[in-house]
Amino acid sequence: MTAAAPPRAPRILSIGECMVELAPAGPDGLFRRGFAGDTMNTAWYLARLRPDWAVGYLSAVGQDTISDAMLAFMAQAGIATEHVARRADRTVGLYLIELRDGERSFAYWRDRSAARRLAEDADALDRAFAGTDLIYLSGITLAVLKGDGRARLLDRLAAARAGGARIAFDPNLRPRLWPGTAAMCAAVTEAAGLADIVLPSHDDEATHFGDVDPAATRDRYAALGAGTVVVKDGPGDILAVSDGMRAGLRPDPVARVVDTTAAGDSFNAGFLAAHLAGESLDAALRAGAALSARVIGGRGALVEI
Ligand code: ADP
Repeated sequence: MTAAAPPRAPRILSIGECMVELAPAGPDGLFRRGFAGDTMNTAWYLARLRPDWAVGYLSAVGQDTISDAMLAFMAQAGIATEHVARRADRTVGLYLIELRDGERSFAYWRDRSAARRLAEDADALDRAFAGTDLIYLSGITLAVLKGDGRARLLDRLAAARAGGARIAFDPNLRPRLWPGTAAMCAAVTEAAGLADIVLPSHDDEATHFGDVDPAATRDRYAALGAGTVVVKDGPGDILAVSDGMRAGLRPDPVARVVDTTAAGDSFNAGFLAAHLAGESLDAALRAGAALSARVIGGRGALVEI
């Protein structure tokens, strides 16, 4: 008698832009270099939570030393980089965090980053998506791609989904990255229509889609066809629906919120890891909330867990 083959470890591919981060590291204009970006943060936490799973990133970087360092950072985190293209004509984007009276502000240099060209080659997208169980992207991924690239990515995602991959999408609405709110809302709605799992944050959705409450956000995305929708709301109740079953969770209060950067990104990682492992909707919501609670209790996007 032969034993049944063990189930294959899930394969996850996250798509987007990782940037160089310069964060204040001293009193006199000293900065520490790091690497972060919304979909990268989620991949980083997924790789931490499930070192036995295959987590990869799809993006583009340059061929210079800082791009080498970014790839080394991903590899060190256990994130596969075979689908990160290297372009001779561009380099990676950068953002700088400044503190004034304890408030963080961000300045970005990303208009010409290599990642804006991550969807130039339909065949490369198909190769990356082949055999992937879950593909993750966000509204920021869409925002950094221009016309052709965005349409090409959505087209190949639809094909991958038809071939059995699941698509997870966080709308991550960032009006500054778009020519206008209408273009942002249209692109996000189109991508959400391709997704199996949508992970919005209610406050952004209320501002730009006019949702009166988190239930309205949940119902709007569910109506686009996503089987699973999870609506985050900062410290407020999380509302979810999955396969017609509704659930909710009030996150435990966090005694000392240090830095809310990547609250949503880390929630998504905790939720997706549990959901893909076949845990119940309630358990997956708890896993997301527990991870984000730890992340907002530490400084920066990537908090060691
Ligand atoms: P985003 O980073 O996308 O704005 P949210 O602010 O909605 O995401 O937060 C995502 C999750 O992080 C929430 O669902 C919750 O679990 C947790 N969270 C965020 N802020 C707090 C807070 N002040 N107290 C407790 N949990 C929080």
